[in-house]
Amino acid sequence: PTTITDELGIALGNLADAATGTVTPTIRLGVTGLSRAGKTIFITALIHNLLAAARLPGFAPMAEGRLISARLAEHPDNATPRFAYEAHLEALTGTPPVWPESTRRISQLRLSLRYQSGNWLKSRFGLHTLNLDIVDYPGEWLLDLPLLTRSYAEWSAEALELAGRPAREAEARPFLDALAAADPEAEATDAAAEALATAFTHYLRASKADARALSTLPPGRFLMPGDLEGSPALTFAPLPAPAASPRHSSLYAMLERRYEAYKSVVVRPFFRDHFARLDRQIVLVDALRALNSGPEAVADLETALTAVLECFRQGTSGPLSRLFNRKIDRILFAATKADLLHHTSHGRLEAILNRLVSAAARRAKFHGAETRSMAIAAIRATREGSVKHNGETLPTIIGTPESGQRLGDITYDGRTEIALFPGDLPENPDSLFKSDESTPQLNFLRFLPPTVMSPSQSGEPVFPYIRFDRALDFLIGDKLQ
Ligand code: GDP
Repeated sequence: PTTITDELGIALGNLADAATGTVTPTIRLGVTGLSRAGKTIFITALIHNLLAAARLPGFAPMAEGRLISARLAEHPDNATPRFAYEAHLEALTGTPPVWPESTRRISQLRLSLRYQSGNWLKSRFGLHTLNLDIVDYPGEWLLDLPLLTRSYAEWSAEALELAGRPAREAEARPFLDALAAADPEAEATDAAAEALATAFTHYLRASKADARALSTLPPGRFLMPGDLEGSPALTFAPLPAPAASPRHSSLYAMLERRYEAYKSVVVRPFFRDHFARLDRQIVLVDALRALNSGPEAVADLETALTAVLECFRQGTSGPLSRLFNRKIDRILFAATKADLLHHTSHGRLEAILNRLVSAAARRAKFHGAETRSMAIAAIRATREGSVKHNGETLPTIIGTPESGQRLGDITYDGRTEIALFPGDLPENPDSLFKSDESTPQLNFLRFLPPTVMSPSQSGEPVFPYIRFDRALDFLIGDKLQ
């Protein structure tokens, strides 16, 4: 409970703002996750639900009728692209609706929320305004944090050791061949640097695209270049350390300079200007896709998430502390696309999510941040039903699978609605990391976006969802108190 002095502090603070016409309180919400985790869909649904006043019973400010209005505010930042909300909404509400283009770079959008405080003293001062800045960025970029404390020689040694492991043989071979043909001590040429960088990029992307999915490796921009595709900052690759100190004009020295430039021009500004300014964070995880591919992919997702989540554990001491003097105080881990499962399995999906992030959480607490896990669907593409099979009633989901997908000998045409029993998630998440007969066969298909929407409080059509309202309440509900 807050004291009267606290209340006066808040009230006077707001009066001061009004008097000087200055700063409206702003909360910066980061939305991240590996590619295709569901960032674009989550943000589009978030904006639309607030603008259209969707029914969100689990989001207290809305349920209590205190959220008076939401509108798009002027874009606050000239240097960061605006989130393409209108284009994404158009795709999702077109005839037929299609999923919009996914996140490829950082973008941002500001909503301005008018609300009535639920607190009697604060509410005496009329309506309040909160700016909600939503920042969308690829989770792959977070993989770069460890580079800031590694020299080129250290990073090279690590990257080459990984590329030489037998499990990566197939993906790494062309890069290792290119490396064998290169002479680090020879005069540097742009062509030689580009050839190596291209082979290295192909190797990283092949590791990631592989259905057996080996873990996601830095540099993050090689996987998700954003606006830097083809830029010199991305034309480097690891090289074995030369015996003697390399000449300034050697290939080794050139790639070392580029590696350092990548850190200072790309990585550090991202952490300093964007990441370090976030107040709240949602980390989206597509666990179902990994479950579809089997134990290696699940273990791999865990490794990648552990690397990504490392960024949220930076304390107040250490070499990077200057970047992190403002703290994220709430982190929500969300397993996305929960609509691909019957609700009776959502508890198990949450258990799997907890198991996936536990390695990161176990090593140290997320620095002072409150964390929670939830299974959600920002846009629900299926309904629920049941089928009788061999005298058993199986819970199913009903929807239209995207065309071209196959299950057994059926190929879906993108027009036919089906009822699907995707399989039972195991009770014990650990079993997903082992391959033996007990591993259940799971079949998660991609479904087309919903065609039926429901009316919001203002009568506007909004998307169906699962637990989106509760996710939002955890992320920003207290800021609208
Ligand atoms: P990101 O921006 O790369 O993180 O990913 P997107 O938001 O573009 O999502 C990738 C794909 O996942 C989409 O094109 C959809 O096919 C699917 N998807 C995302 N969110 C949901 C959801 O809530 N339900 C369902 N069924 N599919 C989803």
